[in-house]
Amino acid sequence: MIIEPNIRSNFFTNAHPLGCRQNVLNQINEAKALCTFQGPKNVLIIGGSSGYGLASRIALAYGSNSNTLNVSFENEPKGSKTGSAGWWNNIYFQEFAKETNQIHKDFVGDAFSSEMKQNVINYIKEHLGGIDLVIYSLASGGRMNYETNELVRSHIKTLGEDAVGKTIDVVSKEIYNLTLTQGSEQEVKDTVYVMGGSDWYAWMLALDHEKLLNKHVKTLSYTYIGGPTTVKIYRGGTLGKAKEDLEKHAVMIDVLLKDKYLGEAAISSSKAVTTKASVFIPQMTIYVSCLYEVMKKHGVHESILAHKHRLFSEMVYGNKRIVDDQNRIRLDHLEMESHIQKETVEMMTTLSNDELLQLHGTKIFLRDFYQINGFVFDSIDYSKDVDLETLAKQLPK
Ligand code: NAD
Repeated sequence: MIIEPNIRSNFFTNAHPLGCRQNVLNQINEAKALCTFQGPKNVLIIGGSSGYGLASRIALAYGSNSNTLNVSFENEPKGSKTGSAGWWNNIYFQEFAKETNQIHKDFVGDAFSSEMKQNVINYIKEHLGGIDLVIYSLASGGRMNYETNELVRSHIKTLGEDAVGKTIDVVSKEIYNLTLTQGSEQEVKDTVYVMGGSDWYAWMLALDHEKLLNKHVKTLSYTYIGGPTTVKIYRGGTLGKAKEDLEKHAVMIDVLLKDKYLGEAAISSSKAVTTKASVFIPQMTIYVSCLYEVMKKHGVHESILAHKHRLFSEMVYGNKRIVDDQNRIRLDHLEMESHIQKETVEMMTTLSNDELLQLHGTKIFLRDFYQINGFVFDSIDYSKDVDLETLAKQLPK
């Protein structure tokens, strides 16, 4: 099968396995070139197959020789379906990470379910004994409520008034306006249920109940704060309410871990990067593109892997932590510097659409967007046939 990008309404419906392999390998090579650090022995990552969760996994497996367990929700290839990028990322992480001689285990299924929590608990009991770091890096459009058997969906909406902002059509490479309407009370509630902190809390209570948290255990979840151009849509919208809930749960978990384990729970505010969801959030694509341009110019642009490596080596297990008045770890401090924000906003508001599309930052955004799904890597010959069945047979068991 020749695998070409299949994108519908800015959403990839397929992935290229060999490109996903390259994506994982590039991050591993980057991690190997960075310093090693004294970090956690056993790590559980909820949402570790892509984005910030995968970068965290690689940074820890290679930076501090950690054992890693990863829970993710991914589709395997079937017939003409290529499987999701995260599914291949898991497979190829396992292939490469054999060289670490540590334990790396994947659980594919619904992290929100009690069944998944029990499976992970059983595995920890049998193979690791206890956990030193839990990372909750889940991003999902829906959560099954197992009590009512209803799928609850999250919503990207504003509060108070509608908002219009630009986004990029990743196929035609044109900029167009996207409108976000106001979320209802129910939609806020649902978004908080899916993307808030209740499931993170449930994981921590379950691990505590089973006595699987080690002394000095830490847990982290990732938030986004951002600046004035995204506030109406992100922090001031339905997603912002979910992040407030996540941060509220961090305080509750922190009390539990401090008292019982001399541990801690923390929120890290990470910088804006290219994600599958960026194109559906008005202004975000343009903001990230201009931000890349400005941060590159000032020599402070970081890859997703370098960002997470710095989180663990300097701010979580090192002594260079920067926190705000709510005790959130501000890994995004470079993005939030006033001159970076000022230049980014200026660029967003003064450049024409054509000029925005010509920016090096926009080209990086679009390249990253395609590479998340395994496309546009120079090292891959995309005209070559990919035999998914044979590939699956060659994979490590
Ligand atoms: P992503 O979409 O790349 O990864 C999400 C992960 O969650 C995947 O591993 C996926 O398999 C997993 N997942 C989704 N539903 C699941 C389920 N039901 N069961 C098990 N696993 C499931 O997301 P990302 O962009 O890396 O975001 C991760 C976190 O970082 C989010 O909380 C996000 O808000 C936060 N964050 C992102 C940015 C950004 O710019 N991307 C910035 C700051 C903070």
